[in-house]
Amino acid sequence: MRMSQLFARTLRDDPADAEVPSHKLLVRAGYVRRVAPGIYTWLPLGLKVLGRVEQIVREEMNAMGAQEVRFPALLPREPYEATNRWTEYGPNLFRLKDRRGTDMLLGPTHEEMFSLLVKDLYSSYKDLPLSLYQIQTKYRDEARPRAGILRGREFVMKDSYSFDVTDEGLERSYQAHRDAYIRIFDRLGFEYVIVHADSGAMGGSASEEFLVVAETGEDTFVRSAGGYAANVEAVTTVVPDAVPLDGLPAAHAEQTPDTPTIDTLVDHLNEAFPRDDRPWTAADTLKNVLVVLRHPDGTREPLAIGVPGDREVDAKRLETQVSPAEVEAFDEKDFAANPALVKGYIGPGVLGSESVSGIRYLVDPRVVDGTRWVTGADVSGSHVIDLVAGRDFTPDGTIEAAEVRAGDPAPDGSGPLELARGIEMGHVFQLGRKYAEALGLQVLDENGKLVTVTMGSYGVGVSRAVAAVVEGSYDELGIIWPREVAPYDVHVVVASKDPEINETASTFVAELEAVGLEVLHDDRPKVSPGVKFKDAELMGMPTIVVVGKGLAEGLVEVRDRATGEKQDVALADAVDLVRATCR
Ligand code: ATP
Ligand code: MG
Repeated sequence: MRMSQLFARTLRDDPADAEVPSHKLLVRAGYVRRVAPGIYTWLPLGLKVLGRVEQIVREEMNAMGAQEVRFPALLPREPYEATNRWTEYGPNLFRLKDRRGTDMLLGPTHEEMFSLLVKDLYSSYKDLPLSLYQIQTKYRDEARPRAGILRGREFVMKDSYSFDVTDEGLERSYQAHRDAYIRIFDRLGFEYVIVHADSGAMGGSASEEFLVVAETGEDTFVRSAGGYAANVEAVTTVVPDAVPLDGLPAAHAEQTPDTPTIDTLVDHLNEAFPRDDRPWTAADTLKNVLVVLRHPDGTREPLAIGVPGDREVDAKRLETQVSPAEVEAFDEKDFAANPALVKGYIGPGVLGSESVSGIRYLVDPRVVDGTRWVTGADVSGSHVIDLVAGRDFTPDGTIEAAEVRAGDPAPDGSGPLELARGIEMGHVFQLGRKYAEALGLQVLDENGKLVTVTMGSYGVGVSRAVAAVVEGSYDELGIIWPREVAPYDVHVVVASKDPEINETASTFVAELEAVGLEVLHDDRPKVSPGVKFKDAELMGMPTIVVVGKGLAEGLVEVRDRATGEKQDVALADAVDLVRATCR
């Protein structure tokens, strides 16, 4: 490919809407162009990288015995109605109508379609196990499309689905996918962790995520020295033992004027109502946070969440807990509709489904029976001290919505947690029989009895991977592609206007291509060497060869984009040397 012909324009400036390095660099280096928020066009260079990632995924999926199919993105409503996802997906689903007014959707994921396809064609246990996959465009009307192709509203996913008769079979299919993912992410050169993705009531292996470690990632994960690793959304709180109620002091409401924050409240408590055993801390206070849940059917439900005052409510943990409902702000109208709530002084006294407000009240799991709290007295300017859980108030239940902090204990006792950020690249999930049941996917077992099939679903973010590779591999000059996914193996820069040198460069390029290398040949006659070097560094091919003045002594310069190392090599040896570094 000649640069003079390549459909690409490099840009000096970062796009105004770009927040993360991969977004800036992929636009600046001419790989993608934005069409609308979360919707991108792949330019020739970008499409080549996308194709390489797809190929790695395809090879590993084929190697584990999965077969490729391809579903349409435009789908009918009925299957998604049967599983309730037409409703559950809420505003994330792109819905449309055809000319007859029939409801359609753009597929966000294809569990329903795969289940129905297998139901259509297979009927016996002898047909199973089966794993099918596709590499296909998905649509989700994401609330916060950001970071370019890391979170698109249109994006490419590899999704696969396994079908088994027995639970052991599902376990095997799950492991096979998990192993294939390890190979895929190793080949892509990612630094990644495999984390529990849900709190996994039955041991937690039912769902795991592959997170690429990156500062810019949207997922926070935790790990302990003892080997526990989980998405922060899946972390369960280590619950303290309940405290016997006998002998606990009585609750008393007190004036706490001018204590707008937890810190000022704690200072005031220590001054006016000191404890005899130790000073009050923020962790002794119970903060009641109000939100509104918007359920998929559109109804709004207020919800109160009680967390220790030293912790915030973590929006993503909360979202996970209440899904498929979405979380909205509890606004002035909601306060007006609930006159029992005294802003800033809301306490358990007016919360709970049995209370005057009728607002469901869920508390942090640390709020066990017998714990003593300082919390709102439901009177302006007053707090109640020593309000005891299980004695003075009984919440409707608990919720894992408080933030997880470094140093918190791992739920499996493997030590304190440390926090880091990552990009979710893959997800393996034991679905079980939920979808098969909803869609009537059954086969005859050995005894001729109809049994419901058990399924797994497994996703890889193929387009996201292109951006995630860049997040882990760039410098101040531009992208540094790992060889496995680079659009071209070699970038040949002709650093001269001399027609003879140009001639030699063309021959050299032809020789590189003859040994099977893909070459980007910067032959632009009117562009200075400086600009060509900048473009080569920005575009990020792993090997750059400069053909220029050195030819007078029969030399070309071979540069390693990753290490910056340069060496002068005899032209006659250059093809062999470059081939050796590329393979
Ligand atoms: P996230 O938590 O990032 O929204 P998800 O849990 O909704 O992702 P899955 O439904 O598990 O994602 O989809 C499988 C894979 O598809 C994810 O692991 C991710 O790599 C990719 N993916 C999901 N949503 C997007 C998106 N909006 N843009 C690009 N890739 C995505
Ligand atoms: Mg996921």
